[in-house]
Amino acid sequence: TEFDIVKFSEEITEDMQLIAKQNQQIIYQHSGTSATVILDQSLLRNAIVNLISNAIKYSGENTFIEFNTEITPSLTSICIQDNGIGIPKEDQEHLFEAFFRAHNTGTIPGTGLGLNIVSRYVQLMNGQVKFTSNVNQGTSFTLSFENSHE
Ligand code: ATP
Ligand code: MG
Repeated sequence: TEFDIVKFSEEITEDMQLIAKQNQQIIYQHSGTSATVILDQSLLRNAIVNLISNAIKYSGENTFIEFNTEITPSLTSICIQDNGIGIPKEDQEHLFEAFFRAHNTGTIPGTGLGLNIVSRYVQLMNGQVKFTSNVNQGTSFTLSFENSHE
């Protein structure tokens, strides 16, 4: 059913800000003419929470995490960007495999399941996941969904 992605995203931002590190600021912004989308709210929430949790976990204190939503007539896109440790190029092709973790995680804990779940949920919503990442610079994940026109 239809819902307001701005309200929805502001709520997630508030919740995630509570578990962010010292002075890690999550900045949410929306652009577009509309704020209404038709997507599965609980699948989408779970995917976004996974991506923001990673952004928090894999970046340091005193950094910004940008969370953006955009609606154009044809597309809804959701982007989560951090200035964290990044993902080595040779690891990037395996990122959505269950239990896969990149080689630069050091002592940061994790099971390697979050992104596998994100990719499954996005697939269930007929969307796409893309990312770009550079080691020691940061990572950006984008989810995109074609808007349905009845
Ligand atoms: P969990 O199952 O608790 O989420 P995880 O965070 O290790 O564990 P994923 O979320 O699936 O697992 O991520 C897989 C791997 O991708 C991570 O182990 C990490 O190496 C890398 N990764 C994911 N997101 C980021 C990010 N924002 N910055 C840097 N590396 C990341
Ligand atoms: Mg994770």
